Amino acid sequence: MNPLDRPYAPAVYLCQVREGVSCGACCGLYNQADLSPESLEARLAGRTAAFARVPRTVEAIDAFGRAAEGWTPATRPFADFHHCPFLGLAGAGGKQVGCLLHPEAPGNGGVDWRGLSYYGGMACRTYFCPATRHLPPAWLAAVGQSMEHWYLHGLIVTERCLLEAFFQEIEGRIGRPVRESDFAPGSPAAALLRAFAALKIDWPHRRADAPGPCNYFFENGAYPRPEVLGWGPDRPASRFAAIFRELDSAFASPADLRAAEARLEELFRRIAAALVPGCGVPEVVIVAPG
Ligand code: SF4
Ligand code: SF4
Repeated sequence: MNPLDRPYAPAVYLCQVREGVSCGACCGLYNQADLSPESLEARLAGRTAAFARVPRTVEAIDAFGRAAEGWTPATRPFADFHHCPFLGLAGAGGKQVGCLLHPEAPGNGGVDWRGLSYYGGMACRTYFCPATRHLPPAWLAAVGQSMEHWYLHGLIVTERCLLEAFFQEIEGRIGRPVRESDFAPGSPAAALLRAFAALKIDWPHRRADAPGPCNYFFENGAYPRPEVLGWGPDRPASRFAAIFRELDSAFASPADLRAAEARLEELFRRIAAALVPGCGVPEVVIVAPG
């Protein structure tokens, strides 16, 4: 989407960041059964190629939308979250996610066909997700600078509460607000932010009935994230409780919880050390000779 055709734009525009880094999460990109990067990319590439052959008429575009895959609610993690069949690959060389109906998309000749979408053209032009509207600009810039591929970018960018917990933890450790420059492209901190985001893909403590990496981020209460599941009747207490909840966690035992905490602790220790030399390095305890 082009920020210039929207009446409101957030301080940091994360829908289309740079070549290879963009997002289509609010168009339902991840609300599909097989979410591996390879299969998602292959699906988008196939759609883009097929749409290139579609005559730009209302009837032909409607027919394409009806025929495109991704329409079966039963196969989606969130049955009531529409997956738009007009998501494809955009930009030079088709290296990032984009809208096939956008006026700047190849073949559209400047005509905006988004009025034919499920949500309608106005929603497509004006919607911004809660994370991009509410998180501080420095945090959003840090995310945009750190990402190297649309797949991970779109998975993390909508995670308002997860990102809030992440950046608050860092700021608590370094004793100051995060700055945009802390996560310069190619920096160690940027790599560690990607490692954190990748927990959405390979988190070993995700509860069995979780919907997977797809995030339902619309604030209408339709699919609230449940609290962390523990091994007993009580909710397991942890300083990382918010992060564990946002990762849809369940822990089978205290040892399971400790392993998850240790993984996060190490990640945050390394980020703090990358941002503030000496920060995050364990203090040396000098034991006096007895
Ligand atoms: S989910 Fe947010 S960042 Fe992604 S395309 Fe939609 S508004 Fe942009
Ligand atoms: S038509 Fe609207 S919902 Fe579909 S991909 Fe384009 S912007 Fe997203």
